[in-house]
Amino acid sequence: TIKASIDGFPQLSDFEVKTETLSLSFGVGNKQVVLVKNIYVSIDPYQLNRMKSSQTVLSFASAIIPGEAIDTYGVGRVVESDKPDFQKGDLVVGLLSWGEYTIVKEGTILNKLDPMGLPLPHHVGTLGISGLTAYGGFFEVCKPKKGETVFVSAASGSVGCLVGQYAKLFGCYVVGCAGSQKKVDLLKEELGFDDAFNYKEETDLKSALKRYFPGGIDIYFDNVGGGMLEAAVANMNTFGRVAICGVISEYTDNGKRAAPNMLDVLYKSITIQGFLVKDYIKLHKDFFSTTMEHLQTGKMKAPTDISCGLESVPSAFIGLFLGDNVGKKIVQIADE
Ligand code: NDP
Repeated sequence: TIKASIDGFPQLSDFEVKTETLSLSFGVGNKQVVLVKNIYVSIDPYQLNRMKSSQTVLSFASAIIPGEAIDTYGVGRVVESDKPDFQKGDLVVGLLSWGEYTIVKEGTILNKLDPMGLPLPHHVGTLGISGLTAYGGFFEVCKPKKGETVFVSAASGSVGCLVGQYAKLFGCYVVGCAGSQKKVDLLKEELGFDDAFNYKEETDLKSALKRYFPGGIDIYFDNVGGGMLEAAVANMNTFGRVAICGVISEYTDNGKRAAPNMLDVLYKSITIQGFLVKDYIKLHKDFFSTTMEHLQTGKMKAPTDISCGLESVPSAFIGLFLGDNVGKKIVQIADE
């Protein structure tokens, strides 16, 4: 849990592990519940926006209340169930929590999981929310055409590394940026990006992008906002598309907001569109079968970064804002 709202950069002291006795009501009235032992839980940057005192508009999730369990996507195993479709021992995927157990109430997303031969963590990120975000954002919002140039920020992260791989498989020219040499090497040597750079080593982002895209950028998939968004807009081609997936560089600083040059947007007829993964649930079937096939045939990779133990959740979460994670950040709470 969080001890109080968090408005700046999150600190370890903002979090505490609380123990409470679960009050189960199996078989009582119609309060149908499933008790799940959490195995792998997702660590996501947007949770910070739910922890703020003055809530940004989060149309899809409620504020996190200090002292209360924090819900998150994850994979677990059913311990006890009042619902006939879930049996003790079933593997499940859905909305769990940063805790050892979750009481999943009626109406909460929970599905039985068939791992289909892939490691369970793949079902938390690549085949879960991050994957659908990358797929929906790239294909529906960016509307790519073969041969176009694509720029992805936070490219070695969970969403970014998938966007880059979808774009390459689709036939685009893809450049990613990330915050370390190790991440840049991963992008170029293992994930098939055409090029990549460490944005922390660039003093002028606008001219860096000019170097990597001498012919301009057709598509910018933005995970970070801030100065990178401004620099990308300055380098966009006419009729370029910018997908605002996330603006992580602005999450930790309520005063920081990107100000792209609107004359560029106007005179180059650039489309800048924000989107939420929940708007692309309809693509889930396509997304899942395509991505599953790419993973099984080795055409796509799913870098995953796992920490162990419930007590590592706060540092794993804070690490997202420091760039500690390579690929999808997950905490393993219990043995499979
Ligand atoms: P990542 O796995 O990409 O982890 C976050 C990464 O962001 C870090 O590793 C770090 O990489 C980078 N980063 C952190 N701080 C900064 C900063 N100040 N400036 C630039 N980069 C920074 O996270 P996700 O893939 O889960 O999420 C990526 C983005 O997508 C987030 O903004 C998230 O909120 C958003 N999102 C949006 C969804 C939607 O429905 N629209 C759904 C899911 C995620 P580096 O080393 O490169 O700095």
